Amino acid sequence: MRIAIPKETHPGENRVPIIPNDAKKLVRLGAEVVIEAGMGAGSGFTDQEYTEAGASVAASRDELFASADILLRLRKPELAEIAQLKDGAIHISYLDPFNEHGLVNAFKDAKVTAISMEMIPRTTRSQKMDALSSQANLAGYVMVIEAARHLPRILPMMMTPAGTLKPANVFVIGAGVAGLQAIATAKRLGAKVTAFDTRPVVAEQVQSLGAKFLEIDLGETGETAGGYAKELTPEQVEMQRQAQKEVIAKSDVVITTAQVFGRKPPVLVTKDMVEGMAPGSVIVDMAAETGGNVEGSVPNETVTVGGVTIVGLGNLAGEVARDASQMYSANLFNLVEDSWDEEKKAFVIDFEHDILPGCIITHGGEVTNETIKNVLEGGA
Ligand code: NAD
Repeated sequence: MRIAIPKETHPGENRVPIIPNDAKKLVRLGAEVVIEAGMGAGSGFTDQEYTEAGASVAASRDELFASADILLRLRKPELAEIAQLKDGAIHISYLDPFNEHGLVNAFKDAKVTAISMEMIPRTTRSQKMDALSSQANLAGYVMVIEAARHLPRILPMMMTPAGTLKPANVFVIGAGVAGLQAIATAKRLGAKVTAFDTRPVVAEQVQSLGAKFLEIDLGETGETAGGYAKELTPEQVEMQRQAQKEVIAKSDVVITTAQVFGRKPPVLVTKDMVEGMAPGSVIVDMAAETGGNVEGSVPNETVTVGGVTIVGLGNLAGEVARDASQMYSANLFNLVEDSWDEEKKAFVIDFEHDILPGCIITHGGEVTNETIKNVLEGGA
């Protein structure tokens, strides 16, 4: 099977889908690995490192697409690229299938098997393939570093002959994968950290990192069978806002990571709360690109509102592209290896598999994923 890896084309994207070490592992599986010239450059990997790993360099991007049995990449494709793929090819990448209906239909029409990295079930066995987690983990770290960079204060307490500096107060809203890493990073840097999440099970995890969990009684919240937060009612959102107001006003840094899978993130920090923070405070809104947890955040921009800096950086993991590439590449390799038939030396699409059917969106000219089919038909 020919595994093709194109160069990422999104402006400013320095992460790469496969690093040389994983290219070598794919070759060891018995795959023919072909890369586009310069594929690894964003993260500092040369074509020579890939050829030494046993891969070859395609003559052109067009040839790479046309000859691929499996295409491994990071970002979703352009519509025109789908038409270049062979009937029966397998395309694995982020896909944003809840919103990218045109792409999903194009994959269906082209009879390409599209696998969405966002849709890998969050089970214990699939953790090694879980790109949402690997990238969110790094995003959590980057958000704290970004906040520290903009804050006109230090995070730890410092006792010196010139006086004592108090530790910074950091408030983290949403304690999933990114939020927990943000809490851990801020704690390591010596900040005083408070956090809130609507899933009550998270309180213990927050406390075990040495942070304080803000108790807010929102009534029934809970989580879905997949471990995701349920969407709050408008009344619950308002209750949460009011209960967080005081903590936000006293915080030097607010980091928001609240997401509801497949839906628009809730607005949790309103304009008046931003105005209630002291000048020089910093907010980092992880959801800026998808609608924002913070009123006034601008995707991919850092803005100042009444002296408060709001960071809306979108590609957070991309700020630490080398490590992000290593982790994403491992996720892709583990996914391929898990469905690889050693004798046939091929990736086997098996709808009885415990992980694959959940993340396959289209196959054989059909939208096979029930959740996405429902979304396309306007049912969710
Ligand atoms: P996510 O990105 O969907 O959401 C981030 C966080 O925001 C979640 O913790 C969610 O509860 C929270 N949130 C939603 N609405 C909120 C609100 N109004 N206020 C405050 N917080 C709000 O979540 P994620 O980080 O991708 O992880 C989701 C869950 O899946 C977590 O429990 C995580 O531990 C679990 N998970 C399990 C595995 C595994 O078992 N293999 C792997 C990855 C993640």
